[in-house]
Amino acid sequence: MSHSADLNPVTHPRLQKDNFVRQFIEQAWDLFCMFDIHGNLTYASKSFNPVIGHIPEDFQQIVDFIDSEYRMDIHKMFIKTLQTSSSSKLEFRMQGTSESFNWFECTAMPICNEEGNLAEICFVLNDITLRKNQESRLIAMAFHDPLTGLPNRRLFKEQLQQMFMQAKRTNRPFSLLYVDIDDFKMINDTMGHDVGDAFLQDFAHRIQGCLREIDLFARMGGDEFAILLPSVDCEEHVNSVAKRILHCVDQPWDVLGNLFRATVSMGITMYDSGKAEASHMMKEVDIALYQVKGKGRNHFQFYQKTVDK
Ligand code: GH3
Ligand code: MG
Repeated sequence: MSHSADLNPVTHPRLQKDNFVRQFIEQAWDLFCMFDIHGNLTYASKSFNPVIGHIPEDFQQIVDFIDSEYRMDIHKMFIKTLQTSSSSKLEFRMQGTSESFNWFECTAMPICNEEGNLAEICFVLNDITLRKNQESRLIAMAFHDPLTGLPNRRLFKEQLQQMFMQAKRTNRPFSLLYVDIDDFKMINDTMGHDVGDAFLQDFAHRIQGCLREIDLFARMGGDEFAILLPSVDCEEHVNSVAKRILHCVDQPWDVLGNLFRATVSMGITMYDSGKAEASHMMKEVDIALYQVKGKGRNHFQFYQKTVDK
């Protein structure tokens, strides 16, 4: 059955009588709906119209627009209100008439009759899309480097920890590379900080091109970057990736009209089941990197167990 946009197919008898309250609810931007204790829809506000394209006629028509992962929660919320006669809140995503999703905060409220018994349950849906988008932007900012857009040290450490725990469970090895640009200060000092910044951005882009989708590449700070290569079980494979990175960096750079050459040094370590903590791997790449720097830069080195004192 189709309805014209303005016709309200389910109008609660009380709201029909009370013009005052009806006006209040119908002009609110929030979405209102009411159900009897059997789950039958007794009222849905016109404000559903712009969101889902029509005014729902039953509970299912509302649920159909809710993201599948939250559908069970909304059913549970209804039952909880029924059992406890108390109000509660739930946040969920809803795919409306537009392509994009909207976030809503739904408050479920018990409505009692004159005898004080639960008669109906009211849902008030408040659009919180703006807040949710701001929240996810803040979360992204907390875990990414603003200059290059790469994951930052914080996110990298979390991912390393996760990969370490996973490797412990599955015995699937992985490799950690720590990359430091050689004589980066020179670039800043001779061409200026802006060129240094633009170089870091181009550098991040170029190295990303040497890696697979599944590899994690992060800026750890300054001119230091780290790479996680999942599912690599032999040093030869890591060797070829490291050589590819050296070769890639060795190609001439043209940054903001400045032509120059650059090199990097890398410390590398492999996961093995003997390692107790992920942080040990960070120490190992640091030791290996220090040795490469000491030997004249522009190279990579695997961490050697014998140097661990
Ligand atoms: P080494 O070969 O030993 O690595 O020497 P280096 O000159 O690369 O020096 P180092 O790695 O110790 O220091 C990195 C420098 O990067 C120090 C700092 O002034 C500069 N730096 C850190 N963050 C930024 C940034 O965001 N932008 C720019 N332009 N420079 C930065
Ligand atoms: Mg450096």
